[in-house]
Amino acid sequence: MQTLGNLINNEAVAGRSERHSTVYNPATGEPRLYVSLSSADETREAIAAAQAAFEGWSKTPPLVRARVMFRFKALLEERRDDVARLISLEHGKVFSDAQGEVTRGLEVVEFACGIPHLLKGEFSPNVGRDIDSNSLMQPLGVCVGITPFNFPVMVPLWMLPVAIACGNTFVLKPSEKDPSATMLLGELLAEAGLPAGVLNIVNGDKEAVDVLLTDERVQSVSFVGSTPIAEYIYSTASAHGKRCQALGGAKNHMVIMPDADPQQVVGSLMGAAYGSAGERCMAISVAVCVGDEVADNLVEMLKGEISQMRTGPGTGVEPEPHMGPLVTREHQQKVSGYIDLGVEEGATLVCDGRGLTVEGYENGFYVGPTLFDRVTPQMRIYKEEIFGPVLAVVRVNTFDEALKLVNDHEFGNGTSIFTRDGDTARQYEEEVKVGMVGVNVPIPVPMAFHCFGGWKRSIFGPLNMHGPDGVRFFTRMKTVTRRWPTGIRAGADFSMPTMK
Ligand code: NAD
Repeated sequence: MQTLGNLINNEAVAGRSERHSTVYNPATGEPRLYVSLSSADETREAIAAAQAAFEGWSKTPPLVRARVMFRFKALLEERRDDVARLISLEHGKVFSDAQGEVTRGLEVVEFACGIPHLLKGEFSPNVGRDIDSNSLMQPLGVCVGITPFNFPVMVPLWMLPVAIACGNTFVLKPSEKDPSATMLLGELLAEAGLPAGVLNIVNGDKEAVDVLLTDERVQSVSFVGSTPIAEYIYSTASAHGKRCQALGGAKNHMVIMPDADPQQVVGSLMGAAYGSAGERCMAISVAVCVGDEVADNLVEMLKGEISQMRTGPGTGVEPEPHMGPLVTREHQQKVSGYIDLGVEEGATLVCDGRGLTVEGYENGFYVGPTLFDRVTPQMRIYKEEIFGPVLAVVRVNTFDEALKLVNDHEFGNGTSIFTRDGDTARQYEEEVKVGMVGVNVPIPVPMAFHCFGGWKRSIFGPLNMHGPDGVRFFTRMKTVTRRWPTGIRAGADFSMPTMK
């Protein structure tokens, strides 16, 4: 079986460490390839390549850097289906969903194409007599990205186009579970004319990550993954003097008011809960029904819809299934374990996805769509992120109870409210302690020119991904206050300078 190595200085480099991990095709359960787990020395070589490229790249005019992004955008559009096929093959999500992932990543590349405009900075003439002031947004140096399995293309593209367009160089450490599509991004950037060393991809696990978090040449760390690791990344990177944005896990609630349109709710909820087998950080995993009538009706309608769902391989089957397998056998077992737990905890299991076998794909890592009713806030299946196709219905009596429930949860990534009442929606927007809010929109993922990020334990660090925050994160501000000789001719001033 092939072993995937690293991409250093635009060249594929074989891994030298003795360690590797296996990448599976989750649809069949078969091993697909090995990925080399880089040693500390190999990781340092990637940092060295990025460090060497920084001087030249940071001095390249933003317009020229943007042109590389334009060429990358064209190549990514051309090769969109190849990239999507690789995502589907190793992650398991269905092909049309993988195409959507590539599109959402492409949008950040489009945003980065506008970098000359985004780096213009600020200018204030005459801040004092004959004195002007302006800000420069300068690149940081070597930036690092560490990314999760669930979006092997979109999440790296939240970071690296902005970082690179700002004039930084980059070391990316993709998920070891599905690295091939991420590696293809590196090849396309090289083809687009990105100079050697500006992007380096190093495959690996904790050994590589720990070097990236502590090496003094690294200036910033962008991370997306689970909350315990995000917290570790943030505290370690910060303790080593790096700026850090670390996005963590989620438990996203959809509040359903009695006046909501039931058809719209059910259609939205099915996609939001079960799309990508629930392996999305913005998936809805809790439906909060205001009133028993809303809940009874919703559960009945969901039962009907779930019975029509097709679960199967992400590619190669017509018509395309609605949902693919989970990423690994361990994850399949973990999600099934949570379903066992929900039953033990006393929730009502309405639809059970355990033990699902797909004909012709009996060894795939499948769990079918699962629905629990009468879940309570004390249960672990409510409190913890399951990250699978498991939807919990929680019943409350009032809007205030629903709002409190969402606000009391430790995570605050995304949420949505379904209602016809503008006043209710407005109060929800104002008072909910969650970073991304949808009103009659189930998965409110912000566009590339806005910022993506949650609240509470869904994020560590002050700046979100892409949009204005992305540019802020990947640049250092320098403010210049300038006076030309006319002022100096007036003679030295020994008192504290004030604006006269
Ligand atoms: P993960 O935390 O297991 O892994 C993420 C990255 O960290 C990977 O590159 C992995 O190799 C590395 N890593 C894992 N353990 C490590 C350790 N002990 N030390 C150093 N590095 C380590 O996450 P995952 O399972 O790949 O992804 C799923 C998680 O990501 C879910 O919790 C999901 O909610 C979250 N996620 C969040 C967002 C968001 O925007 N908030 C987006 C996507 C995914």
